[in-house]
Amino acid sequence: MAEKDQISSLLNRQPKSYWTERSETPEFPSLDKDIKVDVAIIGGGITGITSGYLLANEGLHVAILEADKLFNGTTGHTTAKVTAQHGLIYDEFITNFGKSKAKLYYEANKGALNFIKSTIESEQIDCEFSVQDAYLYSTTKENLFNIQKEADAYEKLGIKGGLIESIPLDIEIKNALIMKDQAQFHPVKYLSKLTQTFVEKGGQIFENTVAVNIDNGDIPTVLTRNDCRVTAKHVLICTHFPFYEGLGLYSTRMYADRSYVLAAKTHKKYPGGMYISADKPTRSLRSITINNEEMVLIVGEDHKTGQSVDTMEHYKSLEAFGQEVLGIESIPYHWSAQDLITMDKIPYIGELTSGQENILIATGFRKWGMTNATVAALIFRDTILGKKNIYTDLFKPSRFYAHPSLKNFLKQNANVVGQLIKGKLETNDLDPHSLATDEGAIISIEGERKGAYKDKSGQLHIVDTTCTHIGCEVEWNSGERTWDCPCHGSRFSYEGEVIEGPAEKPLQQYDYKMIDNLTSKDSGY
Ligand SMILES: Cc1cc2nc3c(=O)[nH]c(=O)nc-3n(C[C@H](O)[C@H](O)[C@H](O)COP(=O)(O)OP(=O)(O)OC[C@H]3O[C@@H](n4cnc5c(N)ncnc54)[C@H](O)[C@@H]3O)c2cc1C
Repeated sequence: MAEKDQISSLLNRQPKSYWTERSETPEFPSLDKDIKVDVAIIGGGITGITSGYLLANEGLHVAILEADKLFNGTTGHTTAKVTAQHGLIYDEFITNFGKSKAKLYYEANKGALNFIKSTIESEQIDCEFSVQDAYLYSTTKENLFNIQKEADAYEKLGIKGGLIESIPLDIEIKNALIMKDQAQFHPVKYLSKLTQTFVEKGGQIFENTVAVNIDNGDIPTVLTRNDCRVTAKHVLICTHFPFYEGLGLYSTRMYADRSYVLAAKTHKKYPGGMYISADKPTRSLRSITINNEEMVLIVGEDHKTGQSVDTMEHYKSLEAFGQEVLGIESIPYHWSAQDLITMDKIPYIGELTSGQENILIATGFRKWGMTNATVAALIFRDTILGKKNIYTDLFKPSRFYAHPSLKNFLKQNANVVGQLIKGKLETNDLDPHSLATDEGAIISIEGERKGAYKDKSGQLHIVDTTCTHIGCEVEWNSGERTWDCPCHGSRFSYEGEVIEGPAEKPLQQYDYKMIDNLTSKDSGY
């Protein structure tokens, strides 16, 4: 088989993240009784685990509830660059919020990088942590100018870096901006050790335990799907999209954005460093060791969840880019994931709604959650201990920085309304029998829009395509074999089960036999 065909056939497999392959990840029981703790943490990704680790170290009695398995969310599908270089951002932050807030954002994230580094040293964590320079590069004239402005911002903020005209990677660039002494690591190895310490300090973890609501009295109580109650002085919502929004209207203030990842063995030797393009579609690279072999993570192709034409095309574009720059020998892993982006691009960390001191939230990390989640955990710890944290005000969810927030709020919600209407108007007369195996599509049954997927054994799976969150129409994601909502990023398996919120309820499922009945009735045979 030709090398290119081999790669294409690999991409026909179900996506799987390398990070979550780790067999040593511990397992925990699900919650089957009511409990009382000082702090209930909902969500076992980097935000929840780092928070639990810090709070257990302070002697607090903490329980973590995880709907699935630890680290299986976005944290297990990241690129795991640990850096304060978050794309083109500092010039924009200076323009929108002023120099002192932009500096606070940088320092919070730099502090998080230092925290991760010192924790790895003190806990002696073997997690492939390595110091790397981070490069932001442009290949277009427009971004040459933007990178110059970003370099000016670095100078104003005192960020160690500098403009350069070439990078170690074989890409013809216009210019690039270095941020020195950043890092990369294996996120699951890092978090597994924090989990171990958390448990040794008396922390409790419950997997396969879905939190469904919060009874929001003086002492909040988290209710689980199997009717257990967790009463806590403080609840930390670390579920990526908040499972409980209260009056915070988070659905209208954030959107979900996906990216694609290839772990590739390359012909050319990777020169070291971490790279990200200022140009769109984004290209991001770092090295990774898989089975003792050096490989490269090739990441990018971002788009709003549920708003792509053919998701498989994104993997193919990354593959073409990798071929051109490094030459691809094989692609042992590929996966995709989404992160949440707030209206002003600063995460929401703090009180769920203003004045609600005992329910805290952290979300909207804009694909820079390794450091931003760590910032959140440090803010949570200080808030709960009643200590001052100089970053609290910058990140508080009730802030309103009028210029970008208002503009983007209107844009985002116009987009949601547009998607809602578009989905309702779209029709498709596709006959479900004409689907190839492993193909999914929108079909029509008696004039009603339904979603169909024919699995590899030839069985059809039919769902109602109306998202159970606010009623937008979900779209087929061919790369992941999922139904994705273009409005707020909820995702469902091809059988209709919720994979990611804000939706809580599954899509309505239909018996595939109904298709035969209806088709024969319609067509008269
Ligand atoms: C493709 C991609 C590449 C990225 N690369 C980088 C990078 O290089 N550097 C960087 O800094 N950041 C990166 N990020 C961002 C970073 O990975 C995320 O911001 C971060 O992992 C989010 O962590 P989290 O703990 O908030 O969420 P998650 O890891 O998603 O954890 C949330 C957990 O909550 C659980 N949960 C949800 N609902 C419930 C419920 N009702 N009850 C109980 N549990 C629930 C979920 O199962 C999940 O395990 C990237 C993101 C993407 C998508």
